[in-house]
Amino acid sequence: MNKSAPDQARILFLFSDTGGGHRSAAEAIIEALHHEYAGRIATEMVDIFREAAPRPLNHMPDWYPKMVLVPQAWGAGFYLSNGRGRYHIISAGAFPYVYKSIQRMLARYTCDLFVSVHPLANLPFLWTMGKNRPPFVTVVTDLVSAHTSWFNKGVDLCIVPTEIARQHALRNGLPPEKVKVIGLPVARGFCQPEGDKKQAREKLGLPQEMRLILLIGGGEGMGPIEEIARAIDAAELSSGLVIISGRNQTLKQHLELIRWRRPTFVLGFVRNMPDYMLATDILVSKAGPGTITEALNIGLPIILYSRLPGQESGNVEYVVGEGAGVWAPTPERIITALKRWLEHPELLHEATRHARRLARPQAAREIARTLALILNINPSQLASTASVGQSPTEK
Ligand code: UDP
Repeated sequence: MNKSAPDQARILFLFSDTGGGHRSAAEAIIEALHHEYAGRIATEMVDIFREAAPRPLNHMPDWYPKMVLVPQAWGAGFYLSNGRGRYHIISAGAFPYVYKSIQRMLARYTCDLFVSVHPLANLPFLWTMGKNRPPFVTVVTDLVSAHTSWFNKGVDLCIVPTEIARQHALRNGLPPEKVKVIGLPVARGFCQPEGDKKQAREKLGLPQEMRLILLIGGGEGMGPIEEIARAIDAAELSSGLVIISGRNQTLKQHLELIRWRRPTFVLGFVRNMPDYMLATDILVSKAGPGTITEALNIGLPIILYSRLPGQESGNVEYVVGEGAGVWAPTPERIITALKRWLEHPELLHEATRHARRLARPQAAREIARTLALILNINPSQLASTASVGQSPTEK
């Protein structure tokens, strides 16, 4: 937090590139802060593993895509550690190894408010700082089945995306006055898209005359994307296919070598996800909370093909239970679901309607305002000439 002006309040976001969702949530809040309070609040993001963990834990963002390749093992880790007592014991065992590197990281930054968007930041940072610290706010980025590590009584405020997540927070010992249901923050482009579907397709060079399916495996391009894409292509549906392989370079290279029968567009990591969601008609995705919430906000019905046991299980129940999507864990079931929606547009419209009903387009802005109030920046000090993406605190 080196270049903030003296009169700027400083917020430090604790996140990690373990998947794409934590970064997206932090960036969405930062975008809203700069839009609402241009020039008054300086922001910075710190990857808690890369910058605050000792070796070899600092490589966690690189390991994460490999670790989730064995979902059963990931699920076992989730369930075994998901209890207040158990998590406390594990943390107490690990703390001696991490607190010095956290201290070193903290010495490099000064801020007036911490915002954690990663479950593993909460307890270690709160323990390291003790009582004499700036306010600390957690923004939970799991929609439903949030792990106990998200919830720590020591925080000043815990912002959750849904009522079910609030219940988890209360069961984990947070007092009701410290828990606020606001929604999961997503970028403005999903909530107030620029233009319409036709314009988005024009901009992206996608065909106008057919339905388009969007296939995504989170920020890391996880899951049997190639198998699903081949099955969709072989089914010879009346639609085209857009595949976003995220940071999975190998997957992208494989996909690019395939001779597709139907119009198929292969991309790597895209920075303009709102354009792709606006341009397409059906999302086929793993049950990542970020991608799901973005799709709900833009009104894109969802077919979910996989979930991480534990943390993403509740997302499937949420989307399916609310009528915004279907669970199709095999390529055959994905094709059945696609055919049903493509052949019965009224069913597709119904799912779209339910997706829109679940949207919380004000979430990022409301979180920004809540943070500003903690910093004693009240609404009368709102900047009148705010501009999106203006960052006063580039390192
Ligand atoms: N994402 C992106 N570009 C890509 C692929 C993914 O910006 O090429 C974003 C996506 O829009 C979402 C996040 O990465 O915000 C993925 O988060 P999610 O919670 O769905 O899954 P995770 O990757 O964290 O498991």
